[in-house]
Amino acid sequence: MNLLMQQVSHAQKRAAVGGILGRDTVTRSVAGGIFVCASERTQRAYWHYHVRRWFTLFGVKVLPGRILGDYVECFSCRSTYDPRIVGSTHPSLLLEETG
Ligand SMILES: [Zn+2]
Repeated sequence: MNLLMQQVSHAQKRAAVGGILGRDTVTRSVAGGIFVCASERTQRAYWHYHVRRWFTLFGVKVLPGRILGDYVECFSCRSTYDPRIVGSTHPSLLLEETG
């Protein structure tokens, strides 16, 4: 009970500080495929993610902002890489790039 009340009061404080307009970031998968994972040195599935800024109104995302960055994540070992790794097929080249 005590803990619940503390959480409510914290949420109210955050809403007051945040005001009507705010900003948030959303990470979303935009593509997927097969690449050579530099960690595992073998072909794996990957997801390509975009990290985008969103403007919020009363905590609801209403307007997409610019893309802050993007990366690919290995579906198997969860390592993340520069998206340029996709399309490279020679494992030794990949290892030099990430070294
Ligand atoms: Zn991997």
